[in-house]
Amino acid sequence: MMKLNLLKNLNLEITPETEKLLTLYQENFLAYNAHTNLISKNDEKVFFEKHLYDSLSINLFKGFKECKKLLDIGTGGGFPACPIALLNNKINIFAVDSIAKKIKFINKLAQELKLKNLTAIVARAEELPISYLENFDIATSRAVAPLNVILEYAAPFIKVGGYFVAYKSKIVNEEINHAQNALEILNFKIEKIIKYELPLEENFERNLVIIKKTNKTPKDFPRKVGMAKSNPL
Ligand code: SAM
Repeated sequence: MMKLNLLKNLNLEITPETEKLLTLYQENFLAYNAHTNLISKNDEKVFFEKHLYDSLSINLFKGFKECKKLLDIGTGGGFPACPIALLNNKINIFAVDSIAKKIKFINKLAQELKLKNLTAIVARAEELPISYLENFDIATSRAVAPLNVILEYAAPFIKVGGYFVAYKSKIVNEEINHAQNALEILNFKIEKIIKYELPLEENFERNLVIIKKTNKTPKDFPRKVGMAKSNPL
């Protein structure tokens, strides 16, 4: 059973319709996970607490209310993209991952749950279409790479004045120190860090690092595939 009443902590109101949708989502997810690994078997028991609840924490960020178009980089099994799409039908969500079997699940889910606002694409972040450049109000990323690397993946696709929202665990300060160069080169500024807790007994500390794009991305980005990781800023 999902403890949907806990979503009140994220300022979310759950109606009978959303309850139905989230239950259907969990059923679909766990059925697919039985034959294709999207999350570990251990995590199945904490699907709501560790994945669904965490994804929806973006609701704690006030600027999220203005978002019309969101890009989720390295979405894997659809986190945070799918839970956000389920509860926000006015936001157009694009979920990107380089692994086809994960994207296949998201497209199947979007079809079955009639989620017209969710598009999933098999691609590497460094190779997204030119039409995506400077096109998104918010880009998100959870558990993909260190901050300096994912910021480089996301930067070119965010509009000036838009935000990169990084979902991070408690080692966040160390990552921020390592990302100073990337922040400067890519014209981003850390606006705030929103701390919150997952409804779990341990490993519950989480942070949303809210990073604002202050100016256009220099023309040298995106760099060639693999460069952000092998030769980080
Ligand atoms: N965001 C999901 C979550 O929180 O559960 C998935 C996290 S998983 C540990 C990292 C994902 O990032 C993998 O599915 C991987 O394929 C994807 N990924 C890593 N580098 C990428 C890149 N350059 N472009 C696209 N996807 C990438």
